Amino acid sequence: MIKVIVDMNLCQSHGECVYAAPGVFELGDDDVLRWQEEVDESRREELEEAVNVCPMMAIRLEG
Ligand code: SF4
Repeated sequence: MIKVIVDMNLCQSHGECVYAAPGVFELGDDDVLRWQEEVDESRREELEEAVNVCPMMAIRLEG
């Protein structure tokens, strides 16, 4: 499993990560980002894309 860490002090809810890895990242009706903290290895490419497109560099992967 891959651990997904988002620094919510940096996140500005632009939602680029939601397009890159839908289902892992999700913006609530309140515009606050929610995400799965443990994600299957099979989605690594999408997660890396999310890391790369985040304008705030708020996403970090472990494992
Ligand atoms: S792309 Fe980055 S700033 Fe935008 S919602 Fe995702 S984590 Fe937050």
